[in-house]
Amino acid sequence: MDIDKEEAKKLIALQETELDINRIKRRLKKIAQEKGELELLKGKIQKEIEEKEKELESLRKDIKNLRQEIEEKEELLEKTEKKLSMVRREEEYKAFLREKAKLEDFILKSSYNLEEMEERLAKLERDFKESARKLEGKLKEIEEEIEDLIYEERTALRRLEELEKERKEREKELSPALLSFYGSAKDRFESLVLVPMEEGACGGCGMVIPDVLYSEIIKEDSIERCPNCGRFIYYRLS
Ligand SMILES: [Zn+2]
Repeated sequence: MDIDKEEAKKLIALQETELDINRIKRRLKKIAQEKGELELLKGKIQKEIEEKEKELESLRKDIKNLRQEIEEKEELLEKTEKKLSMVRREEEYKAFLREKAKLEDFILKSSYNLEEMEERLAKLERDFKESARKLEGKLKEIEEEIEDLIYEERTALRRLEELEKERKEREKELSPALLSFYGSAKDRFESLVLVPMEEGACGGCGMVIPDVLYSEIIKEDSIERCPNCGRFIYYRLS
């Protein structure tokens, strides 16, 4: 297949459009991937915050329950002490005494536990305040990054739509034979079917062009096929 300069110019225009399309598609893929990673990170951070909140909540609940239990036992202790002062029979007296000792023991141990839990809660709350601030800051950053990516994605999609239209227009300008050649060759050549000669070599595969072909391209200013890769090679198109 031979092509002239006019066809070559049109082919190059199509090629450039397709290269732009490929670039945008690659970028869109990357954006989707980056967005997915950021969403994942966001989810992890949110979960981390939630878990810390849950831990705090559960400790607060435990403290509340224990405090209540201590109060109940204190009331019981008071009652037991009253009863103790009223009983006459020794056996009863002993039983109440045992009961009293048990309650006192519970209250003492629980009060100690309560104190320890309250200290733990205070520390957790302090730590949480600090880490939550950091995590919220990080979340905000991530959300901004996602926003930027969404904006870029929208812009890229609009541009892609324009380029797809442009491609159709450019395809119409090529002869069916050249278009069909281009269609079958572009995947193999990664959309570079027509390349310039670069320092005596094929601009596509880099093979040094044989002398005879070289002088034809230069002197005749014609467009030839690379003997190695099969791409069209041009010297000057103007
Ligand atoms: Zn080549």
